[in-house]
Amino acid sequence: MKDPECPLCNFSSKKEKIYYENDKIIIVRTKDLKGHKERIMVVTKDHVVNVPQELFEYAIYKLAEIGLKVFNYTPKFVIMESTFSGIKAHWHLVATDLDPNSKDFKQILATPWLEVVGTEKEGIL
Ligand SMILES: [Zn+2]
Repeated sequence: MKDPECPLCNFSSKKEKIYYENDKIIIVRTKDLKGHKERIMVVTKDHVVNVPQELFEYAIYKLAEIGLKVFNYTPKFVIMESTFSGIKAHWHLVATDLDPNSKDFKQILATPWLEVVGTEKEGIL
C-alpha cells in the first residue's frame, strides 16, 4: 500500500540515490544530508507504522551492511531510533556519521542509538 502524499512512499531513482532495494525495503540517501557527507535510511516499501520483528532485524542488518561501504570515509556510524523523526506514519531508520560540525549533531547525541557500527577506517570519530 502506498500513500500518494507520503515522501517515503514515492522515491524515484532519478532524484534519490538508491543503495539497495528488495521486495520489502529500500535503502536510500536522505534528501537532506544535514551537513553530513553521507546520511542514509532504510524504508519499508509499504506505508506502515510498524514492522514485524524479523523484518526489523533484517532492515538493521542490511542498513549496517550498506553503511559499511557508504561510510567508509569515517571510523564509525550509528543507526538511530526514529525518536525525532518528522515522519511517523511510515517506518524508517536513519544511519548517520558522527560529524560534530553537522547541523543535527546535538540531536544525534540526544537520540537513542540502535547500533554503533565500526568501519575499517582508523580514528576516534
Ligand atoms: Zn509512506
